[in-house]
Amino acid sequence: SGHVGEDVAVGAMRAGANDYIMKDNLRRLAPAVQREIREAAARGESKKIERELQETTRELEVVKKMDQLKDEFIGMISHEMRNPLTVLLGNLSILKSGATLPPEDIAKLAENAYAEAGELGTILDNLLELARVRADRLQLATEVLELGLIIDEVIAGLNAGERERVIFEGCRDVPRVKGDAVRIKRILNNLISNALKYSPKDRPVTVSAAPTEDEEVLLAVHDRGIGIPGHQKRDLFKLFGRLDTGRAYADGTGLGLVVCQRLCEAMGGRIWVESEEGSGSSFFFTLPAAHEDQS
Ligand code: ADP
Repeated sequence: SGHVGEDVAVGAMRAGANDYIMKDNLRRLAPAVQREIREAAARGESKKIERELQETTRELEVVKKMDQLKDEFIGMISHEMRNPLTVLLGNLSILKSGATLPPEDIAKLAENAYAEAGELGTILDNLLELARVRADRLQLATEVLELGLIIDEVIAGLNAGERERVIFEGCRDVPRVKGDAVRIKRILNNLISNALKYSPKDRPVTVSAAPTEDEEVLLAVHDRGIGIPGHQKRDLFKLFGRLDTGRAYADGTGLGLVVCQRLCEAMGGRIWVESEEGSGSSFFFTLPAAHEDQS
């Protein structure tokens, strides 16, 4: 400006100007512009640092949260493993003590110990499968399999009480499937164990199989238990996704269904649930059917 009144200068500064140059003193122009460029660059740099700081703080919070989840997870898994181990050790210590017991009591103690050891094995197997999935090291066999033979092994793993409750329908009348026998058994065991766990002891659980029109075999595990509230169905297949209904009813780790889903998808199948709260649940999964000429 050639002439600046005090009011104009104050107004301009308030509006964001940092400096002003008088026309009759242009020597100040270059240094003033250079200084402004330096300061603008410094302001830009400090905004960038501020943004990076915010990002680092956010990342730190995520790491802290993950650390906390890890601690909770270790606590929960230890608790879930401690329960069967306590029963197992208790029963074995009675058997080992040499106390004279009626044969049926000895048989009962041994059967319970066996069941609890099986429970521990399932938790460990699910943990190992999950670790393999997370490390991208899940290696599945692709064999042509008779479903009936897998069902025989599933039945052999059930105890006497469970064998009375679980009914198998049509599992021997379906085409052969393609997949990994150990993993198919694991999916069935997890689903059957849930169906038995989340329904009253006097209600049956049905396992059925049928071919689909899309060259698949559809397997289903139905129970008449507590069911699953509609809005919570999508949380089921999340890691540690235990529902309030399930938590109130029985112990568990929240690992089983996520493992079932990963294994099923890795074999080229799908898994889903249909359920009504209070009436029961049906878990379905598909496996690719083997072509007739495959052996
Ligand atoms: P876990 O049974 O060890 O908690 P899962 O991953 O197998 O873990 O199941 C996750 C949750 O889904 C359970 O905690 C329970 O709330 C619910 N759930 C699973 N299966 C059933 C079922 N058949 N009926 C009712 N709720 C079920």
